[in-house]
Amino acid sequence: MRSYSSYIEDLRKALPQNRASIESIGALRAHGREYDLVKIILGEGNPKKVFISAGIHGDESAGISAIRALLDNQVFKEFAAKWEMTLLPCVNPTGYEQDTRTNHAGEDLNRLFKSKSPPVEVRLVQKVLDSRFDLVLDLHEDLDSPGLYLYMKGMPTTDDGLGRKVIEAMKLFMPVNMEPMIEEVSAEGGLLANLPDPGQMDWWPLAMYAIDSGSRTSLTLETSTDFSMERRVSCHLAAIQTAMRNYAGQNEL
Ligand SMILES: [Zn+2]
Repeated sequence: MRSYSSYIEDLRKALPQNRASIESIGALRAHGREYDLVKIILGEGNPKKVFISAGIHGDESAGISAIRALLDNQVFKEFAAKWEMTLLPCVNPTGYEQDTRTNHAGEDLNRLFKSKSPPVEVRLVQKVLDSRFDLVLDLHEDLDSPGLYLYMKGMPTTDDGLGRKVIEAMKLFMPVNMEPMIEEVSAEGGLLANLPDPGQMDWWPLAMYAIDSGSRTSLTLETSTDFSMERRVSCHLAAIQTAMRNYAGQNEL
């Protein structure tokens, strides 16, 4: 079985020496144990703020590994003057350990961000998101898609340049899902930018909660599990770096 605590311990060891912190944002009790959800901050106080989360679906492991790779590869160095990075490395610890999409209670956490009494994992993520970000990146995988795609929300729908650039960078590692409809949403070259506004939806994923609570732009990245873990992780890393490099931020918070 995969161990959440050893994953977190590995992250702790991989943290940069300067301007990096890791702290608990609260605990989840399950299986007679306590799981501390953690938040890593790199470059605290920098003007631009990015939020990156992984593992809300426990069986989508490339995103979780990408957070580790981001630290190992010192990706932050390039952005150290400009970006404050907030990383939630594994939002669904019980799902991660059991290799399931849902948590220990069978809940799909990424459907419950509009719930009146959300599970503790969701409440802890909401609290972090309430401080609002320029850019919100949620790392996912699709077990059925033949290729990558991404959801984009927040900028005017005509301005899909950032999403396009991110897809260009990701497709070095795997093909793009070119279907005109993906997950019942119209898609163009793997970009799902035609999303409803939060007020029109009965349920919210993390990204919609982020937009509704004042974050500027969200990208939900989906890699296909048809490809090797190495490619999937590289794909997520390339997406993160490209999104941060090209984020124009024409509307400041
Ligand atoms: Zn997912």
